[in-house]
Amino acid sequence: MTMTTSSPLSPDTGGFTPDLIAVGAGTAGLPLALAAAQEGARVLLIEKTDRLGGTLFLSTGMFSAGGTRRQRERGIDDSPDEHFADILRISRGTVNQELVRRYVDLAPAFVDWLQDQGFAFEEQCPVIIYGHEPYRKPRTYWGVEEGRSLLALFLRLLDPYFQRGQVRVQFNTRVEQLILEGERVVGVVAGGKEYRAPAVVLTTGGYASSPELFARLHGGRRLVSIGNLASTGDGILLAEQVGAQVVGNQYFLPTFGGIEDPDRPGRVYTEAPDRWEITARLVPQVRPPWELWVNQRGERFIREDEASVDNRERVLLQQPDMRFWIVFDERILREAPPLVLKWPAPRLRELAREGRLVKLAPTLEELAAKMEVPAEPLLATVAAYNAALQAGAPDPLGRQHRPLPIAEAPFYALRQQGSVLRTWAGLRVDRDLAVLRPDGSRIEGLYAVGEVLGAAQFSGDSFCGGMSVGPALVFGRELGRQLARHVAAARA
Ligand SMILES: Cc1cc2nc3c(=O)[nH]c(=O)nc-3n(C[C@H](O)[C@H](O)[C@H](O)COP(=O)(O)OP(=O)(O)OC[C@H]3O[C@@H](n4cnc5c(N)ncnc54)[C@H](O)[C@@H]3O)c2cc1C
Repeated sequence: MTMTTSSPLSPDTGGFTPDLIAVGAGTAGLPLALAAAQEGARVLLIEKTDRLGGTLFLSTGMFSAGGTRRQRERGIDDSPDEHFADILRISRGTVNQELVRRYVDLAPAFVDWLQDQGFAFEEQCPVIIYGHEPYRKPRTYWGVEEGRSLLALFLRLLDPYFQRGQVRVQFNTRVEQLILEGERVVGVVAGGKEYRAPAVVLTTGGYASSPELFARLHGGRRLVSIGNLASTGDGILLAEQVGAQVVGNQYFLPTFGGIEDPDRPGRVYTEAPDRWEITARLVPQVRPPWELWVNQRGERFIREDEASVDNRERVLLQQPDMRFWIVFDERILREAPPLVLKWPAPRLRELAREGRLVKLAPTLEELAAKMEVPAEPLLATVAAYNAALQAGAPDPLGRQHRPLPIAEAPFYALRQQGSVLRTWAGLRVDRDLAVLRPDGSRIEGLYAVGEVLGAAQFSGDSFCGGMSVGPALVFGRELGRQLARHVAAARA
């Protein structure tokens, strides 16, 4: 990928001269296009796949906001200040405070606007979510069909602009290069053609499906991903070519769990396309643990009912290969609520007999061999857990929820892998989402919004619930509006 200063290619606009180009028609690109169109701008969306929506097909689509009408209707007293304080607490002050402050201030009006548009909120929202370190107030929202509810709303609202040709989409077209004239970005090259506009916005998503970029940005770390296959970090690579600064790569935490697909190393196992539906339930506030967790050395590494997901993620980061095994016996399988919702006991036994995803053995020694874990420490770990439980003594790691020993053959093990669903590093931008060089100067004509900014800007060294989808939507809409107004002012 090289940048051009004067391109040999002829412009291809098909008679359409866009006021702005968005590279990527996903979570950020769609609200951006809508808001710009509502302000009268002509928008060209260039999308490398054959569909609109990006990660919205896969994402749970949760977003957070404090001080919304929906909260007031439910008697929840909240504010942007409290949301901001909570994000600083959870992230230990490591977020980009300027962007987060702007987000928390804009987010309530955005959620009210969604409500006005008839967005299909999941009835119970807003709630406190425990899959990430919980906020102090219920301020997380999502749609009945998760990310797809957001997609449905934006497609409905965009439809009139598609119909009248004010928003156009170039599908199956991958932007390969930015066009620079002097110091300014004036367009893009895609599929061997040039497209020009006064503003180019990178809405290309993250790099959760690029093992190469992930390794480059995170010290050679191996990637096991549940991300959208189109999330290959293109926006970062394109912007680097014109001198942009990448920030946030000093941070990384795994998502706690995920089954690595034995047939697709590096990918998390799923049974349906565009879904992450095969997950072990490891959140003690949702399903208190019945099983034991051991690492590849056959040792427990944390009390399984540790309430803080942040602690669980940090401890997992220290385990060999960021892996652990969930170990249980026949009685637990019979009596406990399903570990994997989609795998009730008969299905789990069937999978265990197949032996690909779940290991099964008549003794713990044989189970250890199948797990490729040394038998002696595994046996000692289970024996210590059982002995404390049977003696009514405290658990060696302080676990409180101990319904049953691990004692009744056969024995089972399901391997879990610290995985990646959204990525941490991204482009440095200013308050107006203009892309910056390392010296803090703007690359004129180039903007970025969504995961291409890196999740760390909004979550820092942590996971703050809803702080990837929320900023992609809210800043997408805000930037679309701003750029359309600039273009209109320049034209006047
Ligand atoms: C399973 C899962 C669950 C998640 N749940 C949540 C959640 O509940 N809450 C939350 O906050 N976050 C969540 N996330 C993360 C969040 O969904 C994403 O960060 C967010 O959707 C990314 O939005 P985006 O617009 O930046 O990128 P995307 O929505 O991925 O859109 C990027 C688009 O750009 C296109 N593109 C890329 N490169 C090019 C190119 N060179 N040329 C043309 N087009 C290009 C892609 O094809 C894609 O359509 C989840 C992620 C996953 C995978």
